[in-house]
Order: sequence, then structure tokens, then C-alpha cells
Amino acid sequence: MADETNSGQQKDTEPGFQNPVAGFGVTFKAMFKKRLTEQYPEQPKTTAPRFHGRHQLNRHPDGLEKCIGCELCAWACPADAIYVEGADNTEEERYSPGERYGRVYQINYARCILCGLCIEACPTRALTMTNEFELADSSRANLIYTKEQLLSGLDEGMVDSPHSIFPGTDEQDYYRGLVTEAAPGTERQVAVSKGEKPSEDAEGVDV
Ligand code: SF4
Ligand code: SF4
Repeated sequence: MADETNSGQQKDTEPGFQNPVAGFGVTFKAMFKKRLTEQYPEQPKTTAPRFHGRHQLNRHPDGLEKCIGCELCAWACPADAIYVEGADNTEEERYSPGERYGRVYQINYARCILCGLCIEACPTRALTMTNEFELADSSRANLIYTKEQLLSGLDEGMVDSPHSIFPGTDEQDYYRGLVTEAAPGTERQVAVSKGEKPSEDAEGVDV
């Protein structure tokens, strides 16, 4: 028994003498390697062109929305991070060229794993992903992005939705690329479903 104990102690002490020297060797070699430290956030790194970042809801060239409220993105999501409610367009309040639009659209970034399955499922290319990756927040509520936050901005030639479809065209013409900008004189309609009131009514209340 005594011999076994002594031989065990001998094995432990031999490598213990060399470890500090070997450790300094690793440090010394690292001094000559290229530094990998990122100076974030002062110098944010440029992402790869197809990096999966924050989502964006896209518009047609005249400003109408591409989302048709079909919920395919929500069904494709493995993290159950998307919530969609579709609704019918009317001639007085039109958000997309076809019959339906996405009335409510939310993505929960506390759940999203940025896998991109939702954008693959979208039949209209309404949903794509940007390169924006600064999504961290200390509040769960702030991590739920609404349609208003996800909807893309207005480029030149666009009028904000809701507004009427380009005269003489139908939904198919939008997907054929025949509509390239808003028709001259296009005006934004009153979003009654969002609680907006026609300006005439507002004046009537004041009087
Ligand atoms: S990127 Fe993936 S996890 Fe995130 S919302 Fe889309 S399908 Fe869901
Ligand atoms: S983003 Fe695309 S898949 Fe999702 S509801 Fe809108 S049209 Fe359908």
C-alpha cells in the first residue's frame, strides 16, 4: 500500500514543475499572433452581404405593402416568433394591391434565432432580412417589433399606404414589375382601421 501511494505522488510532481514554463510559452507565442479583438461598438464590424439580421417588410415601388397577411412565415418559424393577423383591403383603405394585407405583424426577437426560414416561406418577398444586428435590449416588450418598426421606409416615387392601386392595373401587374412608381396625384387614404379620422370630421368636431 505504501509503495502505491509514493509512486502516485511522484507522477503528480513531475509535470507540475514544467507547467508554469509551458504556460508562459503559450503567452509568449500569442504576443506575435494577429490580434482578433474587435473595437466594438466604436468600430462595428461590417457583416457579410447575406448576413441574417433584423427583418424588413418591403413595399411595392408605389408604396403599397407586399405583405398579404397569409401567415406562411409564422407557420414556417421554428421558434414561434412571428405573429400575423390578416385583414381585407377596401377601396377606401388599401394597403396592398390584392385582396388581403397584414393588419398586425410582430416579430419577437427574444425568440427569433435569425435562421431565415420565414423569408424562404414568404410567397411575395414581402419579408427579407437586413444586416442590422444590434438587437439587444433589457426589456422583453422592446424586443417585440411591430409592423410599423419592420415596414421599410419610403423611397422616391412612393406614397405611404393606404392608397389606391395604380389606375388600370391589377395585382398581377405589380408582380410583373409593371408598376414602377405611384401614379401622379396619388394621395394617402385615411387609415380608419388604425383610429385615424377624416380631416372633415375633425373640423366638424371643432366647430
Ligand atoms: S428568422 Fe427563423 S426564428 Fe426568426 S422569425 Fe424567421 S423563422 Fe422565426
Ligand atoms: S410576410 Fe410574407 S409570408 Fe408573412 S404574412 Fe406577409 S406575405 Fe405572408
